[in-house]
Amino acid sequence: MPARLTFGQIAEGGGVRDDVSRVTRDLIRRSNEAAAADARVHLYVISCDSCAAAKACCACVVTAYLYEAIPIAARLVRARRDTPALRMRLRDAAERMEAVGADGHVGPCVFLDAAERCTIYDDRPAVCGAHLVSSPAEHCARPGGEVTAIAAPLLEAVQPETAEVVAEALGLEPIDAPYFGALPRMVLLCLEAWARPDYARFLGEHGRAAAAAIAVMAARTSR
Ligand code: SF4
Ligand code: SF4
Repeated sequence: MPARLTFGQIAEGGGVRDDVSRVTRDLIRRSNEAAAADARVHLYVISCDSCAAAKACCACVVTAYLYEAIPIAARLVRARRDTPALRMRLRDAAERMEAVGADGHVGPCVFLDAAERCTIYDDRPAVCGAHLVSSPAEHCARPGGEVTAIAAPLLEAVQPETAEVVAEALGLEPIDAPYFGALPRMVLLCLEAWARPDYARFLGEHGRAAAAAIAVMAARTSR
């Protein structure tokens, strides 16, 4: 009987990584173009275009679909950044996001470096790439600062359907919710599944728990 392929082999060899990466890059580009067009029509400035402030937007809860974490995990594996220390930091960050209070502050993202740069920039999830504000940059870091986010409706139009298509292509179990959760949780799950031939069972079990945890967090913070 031929050996079953691992999650990493399917993601890399089957072209899944390239396909989902293309979808996310295209989505970010189109969303940003739509925001720029809206800013021109309604005469406002997108503060993120010239932001030199500390990246407060990288210290909040960040969510992602599991498929968006595949290129990130592939990048970490290729760069030999998948270490026990990184997995521990991802687990801690995921737990902090899932337990976050109403202020939404969880501390700097695992992928933000000391110079305020995203170390997975080309593979960042759509919610990061499409998050733009028209309020002054200094408001982002100010407790209680009024922040005006620019709507990014394309994400909702594209992402849930993409998640379904990718889950089916990977043979993942239906879990009554999208494979979606805190970004560090999704990346951690991909790394943990990377070398497993039984990844579908593993991701089904843990994907269900991750989706439930982030749903509880969302319900708590929207009150
Ligand atoms: S969201 Fe705020 S902190 Fe983040 S890049 Fe935009 S202006 Fe800067
Ligand atoms: S993935 Fe990158 S852009 Fe997104 S929150 Fe983390 S450091 Fe910021």
